[in-house]
Amino acid sequence: MPCQAPEERIRNFREVALGYTEEQAVLEAQRCLQCKKPKCRDGCPVEVLIPEFIQAVAERNFAEAAAQLKEKNALPAVCGRVCPQESQCESKCIIGIKSEPVAIGRLERFVADWEMAQEGQMAKEKCTSATSTVSPKGKKVAIIGAGPAGLTCAADMARLGYDVTVFEALHVAGGVLMYGIPEFRLPKAIVEKEINTLCQLGVNVQVNMVGGKTFTVEELQQKGYEAIFIGTGAGLPNFMGIPGENFCGVFAANEFLTRTNLMKGYDFPNALTPVRAGSKVAVLGAGNVAMDAARTALRLGAEEVSIVYRRSEKEMPARAEEIEHAHEEGVQFKVLTNPVEIVGDEQGWVKGMRCLRYELGEPDESGRRRPVAIDGSEFFMEVDTVIVAIGQGPNPLVTQSTPGLELNRKGTIYADEEGRTSLEGVFAGGDIVTGAATVILAMGAGKKAARAMDQYLQSK
Ligand SMILES: Cc1cc2nc3c(=O)[nH]c(=O)nc-3n(C[C@H](O)[C@H](O)[C@H](O)COP(=O)(O)OP(=O)(O)OC[C@H]3O[C@@H](n4cnc5c(N)ncnc54)[C@H](O)[C@@H]3O)c2cc1C
Ligand code: SF4
Repeated sequence: MPCQAPEERIRNFREVALGYTEEQAVLEAQRCLQCKKPKCRDGCPVEVLIPEFIQAVAERNFAEAAAQLKEKNALPAVCGRVCPQESQCESKCIIGIKSEPVAIGRLERFVADWEMAQEGQMAKEKCTSATSTVSPKGKKVAIIGAGPAGLTCAADMARLGYDVTVFEALHVAGGVLMYGIPEFRLPKAIVEKEINTLCQLGVNVQVNMVGGKTFTVEELQQKGYEAIFIGTGAGLPNFMGIPGENFCGVFAANEFLTRTNLMKGYDFPNALTPVRAGSKVAVLGAGNVAMDAARTALRLGAEEVSIVYRRSEKEMPARAEEIEHAHEEGVQFKVLTNPVEIVGDEQGWVKGMRCLRYELGEPDESGRRRPVAIDGSEFFMEVDTVIVAIGQGPNPLVTQSTPGLELNRKGTIYADEEGRTSLEGVFAGGDIVTGAATVILAMGAGKKAARAMDQYLQSK
């Protein structure tokens, strides 16, 4: 896929991957074998009609492709950009056994962008026809959290004729799509457009509403919400638990990314929340969040940015494409390395990290080879900023204020496959159930929960 050149893009926030042209999309779509029993569809948690939409692209019928795509996926322009396609739909593509699988995600992005360029006309028509055929059910449903899980659940419930209100803690809807994933991977205007399309279904989104503080689940029930979906995500950052983590210049990746993406901190004083990237930055961790933080720090003007990870590059959890883009942009990879202490100066600012070198031992319970510290390998790494990106846990505000809601060991909500929790009429899905995962899994969970909520409400 055509991309902005690395030397140009490291100093701007514009989108890196530029998308297919019509010609490229049609040629790629023509590679699809149109299998009788398509396996790719099984690899998509929201059951996108993959061969059908690809066939339409191959025939240059982009409007039909968009209709097929939107039949199942409420956020195709988002998924086409950030889904880990290589381990989802594309991993099941038969062509992939012998050569490159069909680029399903890129085709999805092309179709969604094409449709947006038609001023969302198709989306409007589809929304109107989808809602005009169902009679209102006269029942109120509440969704807590406007991330991909909550929004998908909201869209499906609205399509079924329920009166849906989404309560969101932040001042904008979108969840991680707005505050976490940077503009250069997922332009915010695109997320906003997709969310607007959902709002045209009649979903009422109320922002600045913090579940567990502004309202509780019990209060929603008293106000007549007959089913409630909790999709509050996993936005609570983990820390290393090493000395020095409270020196100035240490950030949680979530804070760093939120200040940049949502609060536009780089535009201080025009935006009121400043962000400081420093000049020598260490990012601890190697998932998508770590890659996003490292590449953001570069764009904010840092001179040297390193990913510090205690395993090797092979074990990194980030998407391959994101690792490749980080390399191209000059992010350094300090693998088999981990800090044991962050060291500060007399004023309390970070001046470096005491680190150990590691080697890989036998596989652990995660199936990845266990990192083992090498005796006597300690060294000092000079940095002025440390960004911790070693995972997030569930935000406890809603769970703590909801008596009787059963939790898993790590504080995530216990829910069955269809999203039913231990409380009658209360459903949950996305990262708040699974722990930090992916956009498409959160959307799949929102979809399944909507089906179960409909069944529950019909049987009441
Ligand atoms: C930086 C970053 C990069 C990522 N990159 C990728 C990627 O490339 N591909 C991918 O598939 N996944 C990626 N992920 C993971 C993916 O974004 C999440 O798995 C997904 O967003 C989870 O969706 P969700 O709806 O469960 O939660 P979220 O997206 O977290 O949404 C939860 C929403 O609930 C709101 N909320 C929280 N508490 C309350 C409350 N008490 N009351 C009301 N509202 C509340 C939050 O403000 C938020 O809007 C990334 C995550 C991060 C942080
Ligand atoms: S939504 Fe994601 S998993 Fe599903 S077809 Fe699109 S890219 Fe593949």
